[in-house]
Amino acid sequence: MSVVMKFGGSSVADAECMRQVATLVERALPEAPVVVLSAMGKTTDALFRAARAALEGRLDVAREEAKAVAARHHEAARGLFDGQPPEELERGLAQRFDELDRIFQGLALLGELSPRSMDAIAARGELLSTTLFAAYFRARSPHSQWFDAREVVRTDSAHGSAQPRVELVRALVRGKLAPLLRAGRAIVTQGYIGADESGATTTLGRGGSDWSASLLGAALGAREVQIWTDVEGVYTADPRLAARAEPIAELSFAEAAELAAFGAKVLHPATIQPAVEADIPVTVRHTLRPAGRFTTIRGQSSGARAVTAIAMRGPVHVLTVTSSRMLAQAGFLARLFEVFRERGVSVDLVATAEVSVSLTVEADAPLDDLVAAISPFARCDVSRDRAIVAVVGERLRNTPGVSARALDALASFHVEMLSMGANEINLSVVLERSAAPAALAALHARFFERAS
Ligand code: ADP
Ligand code: ASP
Ligand code: MG
Repeated sequence: MSVVMKFGGSSVADAECMRQVATLVERALPEAPVVVLSAMGKTTDALFRAARAALEGRLDVAREEAKAVAARHHEAARGLFDGQPPEELERGLAQRFDELDRIFQGLALLGELSPRSMDAIAARGELLSTTLFAAYFRARSPHSQWFDAREVVRTDSAHGSAQPRVELVRALVRGKLAPLLRAGRAIVTQGYIGADESGATTTLGRGGSDWSASLLGAALGAREVQIWTDVEGVYTADPRLAARAEPIAELSFAEAAELAAFGAKVLHPATIQPAVEADIPVTVRHTLRPAGRFTTIRGQSSGARAVTAIAMRGPVHVLTVTSSRMLAQAGFLARLFEVFRERGVSVDLVATAEVSVSLTVEADAPLDDLVAAISPFARCDVSRDRAIVAVVGERLRNTPGVSARALDALASFHVEMLSMGANEINLSVVLERSAAPAALAALHARFFERAS
C-alpha cells in the first residue's frame, strides 16, 4: 500500500523548500511513496504571462519572464547540489529553456497560440520542478525515480481544463506505475499534466495538482493522499481573509468538496471525488510544520458544530429572469435551463420566486449570448461582479437557527440572493464582490469567534 504525497508550488519554491520535501519523502520511503509535485513557486503564472506577451509580439517581455524562471531553477539546482549541480542536470534544464525560447519566438512570429500549445508551455513548470527534485532526491535515495505523469493520466482533449478518463487512468496506473512501487523507493511525478489519446500534453486546469494526486491515489488504492501546502490544513475560513481562522481536525468528504467548490483554494474542487470513490482519506498538511496540526478528510467527520467552515468565491454574475408565464407554464424552467445546457454553461446557485428566478454563473460565461437567448421569452437582468459566500457544515440540516444567525451577522450587508444547497450542508449568500470579504469576516466572527 502506497501513500501519495503532493507538494504545492510554495512547498517546492526553492532549494531550501525542496530539501524539506526530500526529508519528508525520505521518512515515507518504507511506504513506497508516490510524490506529486507542482511547478516551483509561481512558475505557472510566469509561463502564462510569457506566452501572452510573446503572442502580442512583446518577445522581450516573454524572454524576461522566461529568464527569471530559468534563473530560479538554476539557482535551486546550485542550492541543492552545494554549488555544483551534475552537468547532465544543468544541460537538461538549459535545453528545456532553449526550447521554450524557440516556442516564444514562434508565437511572436505567428501571432497564434492554440490551447494545445498553451498546455505544452504550461506543463513545463511541472516537468522542470520534478526533473530538478528527482535529480536531487536520487542523490539521497538512488532507487527512486522520475516518472512522466503523461504515461498514465489519460484525459480528453479539452486543453486547459482536460477531464481525466478515470477508467483508463486506473488501468494505466496499474499497468505502468504500480509495478514500479516498492519500499525504499519514491516515484517522483508531475501534478497538473496529462496526455490525450493522441499523446498531446494536456492540463487539468489551474490548481489541478491536487486532483492529479487523488486520481493517482485512487487508482493505486493508496493508504492516504497527502496534500502538503503552506497552511496547517483546511481552516474555518481562508486565513488570509479571517485572521482568527483555525485548522479543522476532521472534515467529511461532502464538506470538503463543498468548501472546495465554493472557493477554498486549499483544495482543487475535483480533488475529493476520486477519494470518495476509492474511500481513501485525504490529509492537508503544512510542509514546513509537519509536526503541527493538519486536517483529515474522510467519509464521516466527527465534528460537532453546525457550521464547519466558510468560503468565498467570485466574481460571479447573477441573472434574474422574470416572466409572468412562470405561473402558468410548467415547462418554463425547463426551457430556461435548456438555454444554459445548450451552451455548456453551468449554473451554481438558483433561487426562485413567484414570477422570477435568479441564477449565478461563472465570470467567464457568455453573458450576451445567454441574455439574447432568454430575452424572447422572459426579461433578463444581469448583475455583474458579485461573489458567493458559503457557510458549510454537515450538521446545518438539523440545526435550527443557523440561517437566522447568518442573516443577523449580515444585517448591515445588502444580501441579494440566499440559497440553501439541495444537499443541505451549504447556505450561500450572494453580494457585491467588493463586500464579500467583509461579509465572510462577519460570518466567521459570528460562528467561530464567540469570545469577541
Ligand atoms: P498550493 O500551492 O500548495 O497548492 P494553494 O495556494 O493552492 O497552495 O492553497 C493554499 C492556500 O489556500 C492557503 O495559503 C490559503 O490562503 C488558501 N485557502 C483558502 N481557503 C482556505 C481554507 N479554508 N483553509 C486553508 N487555506 C485556505
Ligand atoms: N502549477 C499549476 C498551477 O499553478 C498546478 C498546481 O500548482 O496545482 O495552477
Ligand atoms: Mg493549490
